[in-house]
Amino acid sequence: MFRKSHVGALGALLLCSAAQIHAQAGSTPAMDSDYAAAVKSWTTKPEFMSPLVDHLPVSSTIPSPKEVLGDHIGAPNKLHYYQQIVGYYRALAQAAPDRVKIVEIGKTEEGRENIIVMISSAQNMADIENTRLGLAKLADPRGVSEEEAKAVIAETPPIYHISAGLHSAETGPPEMLMELAYRLLADDSETFQRIRDNVIVSLSPVLEADGRDRYVDWYYRNLIDERDDRNKPGGPPYWGKYIYHDNNRDINLSDTSAKELMKWYLEWHPPIMHELHESVPFLYIYSGMAPQNPDLDPLLFAELPWFSNYEMAQLTKYGMPGVWTHGYVDAWTPGYLAFMSSNHNGMLRMYETFGNGGATTMYRHVAPDPASGLGRDQTTRKWYRPNPPYKEVMWSLRNNTNFMETGVLTALDMTSRFPREILENFYKKSRDAIKVGAGEAPYGFIIPAGQADPTRVKFVTDILQLQGIEIGQAEREVKLKEGTYPAGSLIVKLDQPYGRLAKILLRVQDNYPDENVGTYDDAAWTMGLMAHARIVESADKEILSVPTRALDSYTPRGSITGSGAKTYAVLDTGAVGMATLRYKLADVGGVEIVEEAFKSGGTTIPAGSFLVPGRAYDTLKPLVETLALDAVGIGSAADKAQTHASELPRLGVFSTWGSTQDVGWLRYGLDQQEIDYDLLFKERVRQGNLRADYDVIILPQQGRSTKDIVFDIPMTGKPLPYTKTDQYRFSGDYGSSPDIRGGMGLEGLAELKKFVDAGGTLITTGRASEVPIEYGFVSEIATKAPPANFYAPGPIVKGKVVKPQSPIFYGYAGELKGGKVQGGELAQGELPLRWAQSTTYYVPERLKADVLMTYPGGKDSILSGFIRDGDKLKDNAAIINVPSGEGRILMFATNPVWRWQNWGEFRMLYNAVLNWKQLGATDETPPPPPEVPAAQQ
Ligand SMILES: [Zn+2]
Repeated sequence: MFRKSHVGALGALLLCSAAQIHAQAGSTPAMDSDYAAAVKSWTTKPEFMSPLVDHLPVSSTIPSPKEVLGDHIGAPNKLHYYQQIVGYYRALAQAAPDRVKIVEIGKTEEGRENIIVMISSAQNMADIENTRLGLAKLADPRGVSEEEAKAVIAETPPIYHISAGLHSAETGPPEMLMELAYRLLADDSETFQRIRDNVIVSLSPVLEADGRDRYVDWYYRNLIDERDDRNKPGGPPYWGKYIYHDNNRDINLSDTSAKELMKWYLEWHPPIMHELHESVPFLYIYSGMAPQNPDLDPLLFAELPWFSNYEMAQLTKYGMPGVWTHGYVDAWTPGYLAFMSSNHNGMLRMYETFGNGGATTMYRHVAPDPASGLGRDQTTRKWYRPNPPYKEVMWSLRNNTNFMETGVLTALDMTSRFPREILENFYKKSRDAIKVGAGEAPYGFIIPAGQADPTRVKFVTDILQLQGIEIGQAEREVKLKEGTYPAGSLIVKLDQPYGRLAKILLRVQDNYPDENVGTYDDAAWTMGLMAHARIVESADKEILSVPTRALDSYTPRGSITGSGAKTYAVLDTGAVGMATLRYKLADVGGVEIVEEAFKSGGTTIPAGSFLVPGRAYDTLKPLVETLALDAVGIGSAADKAQTHASELPRLGVFSTWGSTQDVGWLRYGLDQQEIDYDLLFKERVRQGNLRADYDVIILPQQGRSTKDIVFDIPMTGKPLPYTKTDQYRFSGDYGSSPDIRGGMGLEGLAELKKFVDAGGTLITTGRASEVPIEYGFVSEIATKAPPANFYAPGPIVKGKVVKPQSPIFYGYAGELKGGKVQGGELAQGELPLRWAQSTTYYVPERLKADVLMTYPGGKDSILSGFIRDGDKLKDNAAIINVPSGEGRILMFATNPVWRWQNWGEFRMLYNAVLNWKQLGATDETPPPPPEVPAAQQ
């Protein structure tokens, strides 16, 4: 069982004694015989070992993992907490300060330190600032001559960055990297000397440090004795604070740790970043399979198999089975964290090794159960998988460590043999990115000044700048083929080092190579359409010559005019920050919301605007300024305005225990906007009497089926506690349960129904909208399956608002006028929407008045990405609003808070929350049948 390991002073003591035991005279380096015997016994078959990792040199100066942590890496039933892992690297830095540099890059969401560990020869480390400057020149070769670039390439070691622990259930990589770091310092063989001389290795020891601790807790408490891979409990309800496995899909870098890594990247420019994951057997090496994003440099897709084939060949030569390449994950979306490098003209690399979700050795059924019809079979021989994984196997953490470490060492060996080629490629990709941007349309993007809601522009520009993309501000009016734009407009020219990324993020995804080839994630992400910000793609080369001032950061400020007014109107032009403002004014009484636009002086006060009493001026002023909202003082016009009192609801957000990720994205949005809510789990829902505590409950998309939302984790096996105790200090965050199994069940469902009947408002999003329909909360409306060959990987499509007077569309009036957008033309009443899911809804003609928004459907309705066989979806309901009992059920077939992406849709959900008492504004009693003449009765 688990025993606290030794870090710090105790580690140093152990180091001395171990060194005394193992130090040997003579020229043959001493090997740690204890290590060799231990790892041999933990490796379940001889062919799962390699000549690269079956031995460990003894060092008199560098502490081995066992000396600091108490055991060799890969010991059965042993995982290390984050502090222990950081402690080990600190011990290495203390032992070899001339060869190890620890860079503190920031703090995680929960306040753990984020570090990068850099290791190389003493000479390279002494010279590391020159390396940093040299790599910066290759990353941005503007003003660097070919001769200078050649000189930099000749004298600069590439940085090879390796990261572990992004996905907390993938527990092996953070363990393996500690042993790798030890070898990099302690092994004096020719290979390691060459690696040290020619490469700087940098490590992210654990990318999701918060989740590491939470998972290790969970492992020791609930998983350590589980040996049946076909009936094993899942992981803890949370890894990091918010988004679970989607921390790998955080395209807009919402997560603090992702932001910090990005900033570090732009400082150091590692030409290669290699992310270590666990899933498929036994070692899958990413090689950039189709669909490839054609906006990335072709050289990238030539480099990827260069590496992966070498590694596959070497490991296969060692007799290790199951090493393969080419399949599994494609190269379409730019949103994976590891794509940071390829997005910036470097090279991403990725491994998937076979993990047990912990350190317990167990018998694994590798081939999918043929009867299930689920899962791809990775145990068959293919041209890219010459020696396939076994169908069944006894598998250990040490096996996993052997495969991963042998692969990484092979990659480092190769890098040390070709450091010049790697830097030449990096330089060439950076240089050509600028050339491509200057040589072919589009040449740039323009973000016109004067948009009604500047915060949408800020949403886009902040992310672009975080990615290192340069934005200029036009000093004068800009005339281009596409139109004339006012001074102050923002311009992204593509003849810049990260022009390729700018193009990928901003363009319409109309270049998907083949709709019959599936993709691993979304097919579309166009930032302007997602944010509902106006962005224009320019095919006019003149855009490159427009004089601009480098934009430091775009920080629109709001304003308030007319001091001493009786009332202030905060104009609703669609800003998400309106919700924040309303919550920040929670203590100000008498706030009203405008229901119909009216004029005051020369100003139009749109529907959705807040009327705030003049006495709150001092509170209001700084808020509207920082939230970039505009407020005007109004006089008697306020008396005639059609308004309703704004009452903040007591808000609950339901989450299953078994799938918290999609709720995590919503929580992130609500927290960013400072919207007040309680997170509700099955325990509270089953307890009942929900109406006593809540006015509105959101049942958001949970990334799973209707049945799973209700019944969640099956009541099989043993109880699964998620509570904080002295022993398990990292559990019980964001909710707590003595047993997370069982779901809300039918009892909970009945309580939700009672909540609605008693006057509560239930809001559902995405697939969770099937719950009230499938379980009969509403009658007559039905779900229906999509067409047979239907496929819609997150395209951006048109939505048609059919009830523009609904409070849900406050703030959208300007947009609803229609007009040209990227990817098409919007008719009056249409908005861009992210297509959320495959379920569609049938609403009978008689109840059509309950539909607030529809999908017009058909090819013309697709703005970015694609839908295969979607023609039959014409006029399907996108938002349905049904009175029920004393309350109401509002169902979004869309997902109005999709990751940190469709910012332009967030307001629809927030409007529903803020105007919960007015959602019946568009209710209509179904028309009675025509009267039958008396004579015919
Ligand atoms: Zn993973």
